[in-house]
Amino acid sequence: MRVRTRSIPLWAWAAAIALYLGAAAAAVEFAWDRAIDALAQVGAHRLDLYAASLKSELGRYEMMPAIVARQDSVRALLAAGSRASPDLLHEVDTYLEAVNNEAGSLAVDVIDLQGEVIAASNWNQSFSFVGTNVSYRPYFKDALAHGTGRFFGIGTNTGMPGLYYASAVRVAGKPVGATAVKLSVDALETAWRAPGEAAMVIDSNGVIVISTVPAWKFTAIRPITAQQQRVIQDSRQYAGRNVDALPYRRVGDWNDAAWLGRFPDWRRAGHTTQFLVMSRPAPQAGDSIMVLLDVASARRQQQVALAFVTGAFLIAGLYALYAAQRRRTIAVRLKAQDALRAANDRLEMTVAQRTAALVETNERMQQEIVERKRTEQRLRDTQQEVVHAGKLAVLGQMAAGLTHELNQPLVAIRTLCDNARTFFERNQPAQAVANLERVAKLVDSMAVLTGELKTFARKPDVERMAVSLNEAVAHARLIYEARIRDEGVQLDVNIPAGSTVWAESSQLQQVIVNLLGNALDAVHHEEKRIITIAAADPDARERVLFTLADTGPGIAPDVLAHLFEPFVTTKPRGQGLGLGLAITSRIVEGFGAKISAANLAGGGAQFTIEFAAATSQRVVHGR
Ligand code: ADP
Repeated sequence: MRVRTRSIPLWAWAAAIALYLGAAAAAVEFAWDRAIDALAQVGAHRLDLYAASLKSELGRYEMMPAIVARQDSVRALLAAGSRASPDLLHEVDTYLEAVNNEAGSLAVDVIDLQGEVIAASNWNQSFSFVGTNVSYRPYFKDALAHGTGRFFGIGTNTGMPGLYYASAVRVAGKPVGATAVKLSVDALETAWRAPGEAAMVIDSNGVIVISTVPAWKFTAIRPITAQQQRVIQDSRQYAGRNVDALPYRRVGDWNDAAWLGRFPDWRRAGHTTQFLVMSRPAPQAGDSIMVLLDVASARRQQQVALAFVTGAFLIAGLYALYAAQRRRTIAVRLKAQDALRAANDRLEMTVAQRTAALVETNERMQQEIVERKRTEQRLRDTQQEVVHAGKLAVLGQMAAGLTHELNQPLVAIRTLCDNARTFFERNQPAQAVANLERVAKLVDSMAVLTGELKTFARKPDVERMAVSLNEAVAHARLIYEARIRDEGVQLDVNIPAGSTVWAESSQLQQVIVNLLGNALDAVHHEEKRIITIAAADPDARERVLFTLADTGPGIAPDVLAHLFEPFVTTKPRGQGLGLGLAITSRIVEGFGAKISAANLAGGGAQFTIEFAAATSQRVVHGR
């Protein structure tokens, strides 16, 4: 049996794939949005933190130049100019050294109107600022012009980057010089360093001055014009370095405060990485703080989301496959059950049909049996009727025969009696007695006739048993002994010793006597007078064929057809009644045997009796 199972159709696969792709894309985008939003929050937090730390770390130094500028010794030194005493210079130098040590700044120095450093906290160091001219430095110019100045720069002497705060020193309202404080940003850079992040401060030129990535320091975040480049070179702000642009690419905006850009990855040389970039103005005007946050975490979350969606789809897919398989298995099982049920139904139907056919046949057979029985009964009835009719016919024949046979003697007796009376009247008693004797003879012969009739009428159903054929034949022979001898008849008896037949002894003797008598009559006028009696069992003890043949003239053809009917005779009146063979056939039928007669080819007649054989054990010897 082939079960057609529906496999998952193509459109379902296509729909599942489309759904998966849609869900994956949505999940990835959602994860990205959420992660970047989270990252932006981190960035905003970082910016808050860095702005605060910038303000606290650097802002507290902002007023320091102004405080130093108000120091009497400083003002006196600047006011004295070249006339200042070495003591005063020393006093200022030591003051500056002490202040610098106290405040933790890199250097504190005093600059005269010409821009020359005349006193410095590092007055006694090898890289002392003293004698250096800083007139080109914008912080100095700004301090003289506006009272304060500040900038990020690289120290021309030390080569160390730092933040410079400057303040004008005024005596009687007129500027006599300036004071400057240089601060290290190393601590900030160290503090701001975080994995996967970069933090930087960009000055008004767009140049990175504080950076957690050392390589990016003093590179420009914005394109620098030739004019700006010149100004930068003039101010030696970055110690004469060429300010290169940081090679990054803006990828896209995220929101007002953040954008996405691809920057060189400081962790892997030669690689670029995408970062979320956020910036805000630093507490000090003109500067800005910028943080770069690696979007790797967002990518990871995207991967997680993708993996989640993929996993969910795989599980759903597996479940769908499992369900489909299960459905298919159930379908197969149901179909098998259906097929089984159908086969069962068919079988039951066939059985029912066959049973019905059988029942019908049975009923028909029963009916046939009943019909046969009825027919049989009818046949039997008919047979009985036929037998009855036959008997009536025989009775009719017999009555006719009897009337004929008895009438003649009766007429004769009547005449003889009339004559006897006449003889008595004439007194001739001798003749009368002679007549009466003739009457007595006639009555005797009539008695013989009625005696024969009694035998004929006798009931044929006698008790049958095994009777010896040889004994029956011997008895008949004894009766005709004198005739056989006197007439010179040759009697050949050829019966195997012990041959028995199913019969009644005295009746069997009568049958043989009748047949032998007829044969003797037949051969009476012949020259060759041979009578042959024989018996054979042609089929081994089933039947015994008894034959009695003579060399007589044979049975007349018109007699042969009615041979066994009563009153059929060819013999002269007084010699035969025609009852012998009729009685014989009746007796034989009573044995359950069959008698038949035929003329032999070589002349003569043969009578055959087909007996049922009897076993030797049941032989009853004839009386
Ligand atoms: P019946 O001897 O009184 O005539 P049966 O019935 O014995 O009566 O015989 C009937 C007739 O059958 C005989 O009259 C005779 O014509 C014929 N028949 C019987 N036996 C023989 C025989 N052996 N050969 C020739 N004819 C026979």
